[in-house]
Amino acid sequence: MKIERVDTAVIQGNYDWTLVRVYTDHAYGTGECFCSPGLTAVVRDMAPLLLGEDARDVDRLWYKMRWAVSHAGSTGGTVWHAISGIEAALWDLVGKLLNVPVYQLLGGKYREDIRIYMDCHAGEGLEALSNILLPVSPAWGTRNHSQSSEVNHPAHGRAYGKPDLDEVFTPQMYAKRAREAVDKGFTAIKFDLDVPNPYTYDTYNGALNAAEVKFMASLAEAVRTEVGDHVDIGFDCHWRYNVSDAIRLAHALEPIDAAFLEDPVPPENIEAQRLMSQATKTAISSGENRYLRHGFREIFESGALGLVAPDFQKVGGLLEAKRIADMADTYYVNVVPHNISSPIGTFASCHVAAATPNFWALEFHAADVPFWNDLVDTGSSGPIIQNGAIHLNERPGIGVELNETVAKRYAKPGELWFGEALTTSENAPLGSQPGGGR
Ligand code: MG
Repeated sequence: MKIERVDTAVIQGNYDWTLVRVYTDHAYGTGECFCSPGLTAVVRDMAPLLLGEDARDVDRLWYKMRWAVSHAGSTGGTVWHAISGIEAALWDLVGKLLNVPVYQLLGGKYREDIRIYMDCHAGEGLEALSNILLPVSPAWGTRNHSQSSEVNHPAHGRAYGKPDLDEVFTPQMYAKRAREAVDKGFTAIKFDLDVPNPYTYDTYNGALNAAEVKFMASLAEAVRTEVGDHVDIGFDCHWRYNVSDAIRLAHALEPIDAAFLEDPVPPENIEAQRLMSQATKTAISSGENRYLRHGFREIFESGALGLVAPDFQKVGGLLEAKRIADMADTYYVNVVPHNISSPIGTFASCHVAAATPNFWALEFHAADVPFWNDLVDTGSSGPIIQNGAIHLNERPGIGVELNETVAKRYAKPGELWFGEALTTSENAPLGSQPGGGR
């Protein structure tokens, strides 16, 4: 059971889906890290900590990695993205070695159909972003973006530069996108409200005027009118607004009866989040910027959030995610995990969700990536998400294997593929080959 090798591969999806593989002489496990600049180099630098160790001692190895890089990020940062992927790979590996699903290793399942909510972005598809969140144009995409730092893309955190008013967002677009999601079987959906609009005076100060609030409420109302009351709707604001204007927005959204309002204010000030929660009957959600159980303790103790949204590919690993969910449960808070990953990270998150009583729904952020379903073998036919849920079976580990032939076509140029340099023909999206396409 001794670890012999640790390797990485990066798939260029709508984010850099960064995979880690941990090998023993018997088997290997695969995990996924949340994208970050320099991430594969960090994983490679940490590999010597694991070589020769017993892969089954997952939590001890987690502590070994933690203390080895505490000087570089004891409370958060890229080292934790790396550790999260390595730890998830270890659980997949141990599940295979013991011939049990990962959810059994986390305490057993409460459910085997994991509810998924579809991120509908800004009423249209989100294509690809680089590891510093600049829009990029991979070979599989249909839109061309210049790599301009002036682009104020909705996926960015705090707005900067000028709003890109070439993009127009309308209530009709939001309603159409909501209908598409519900027709696919989703019972929970999410939209961005912090989209460029012609009413903004300043993109730095976090202020909202009455016209902006009305515009955002009209987008939200169109979604509710289209899908009815039986669909849960969340809205994301990507940390943009000052507290008093975010409260005005929350009040304007209250007639829509949203399931949650995500990150209306910046994420680092827990008291600001608590003020938001006290001021509105809509549940305030946040958590994708936080790390480790220690990063969430004060959130729960202060009652700052109605729902909590840790990202399991960066928060510190699958067991740490379970610990955070258990801590949330002691405060009767549901967990709605953030997720922008490939099917590898998504399935890993599903195993935690299966073993978590207070799980609400897991995010799906790749509805516009045409090859997302083809990246793994699940052991069954049809799309991975059916009727708004991912079904977990009894297969060992996370229950899916990467389809290497497909995945290699979308490998990020310049990155090794689990230790190997790819040939040009292996690393060529189908749409870019003569006579190709899907
Ligand atoms: Mg978000």
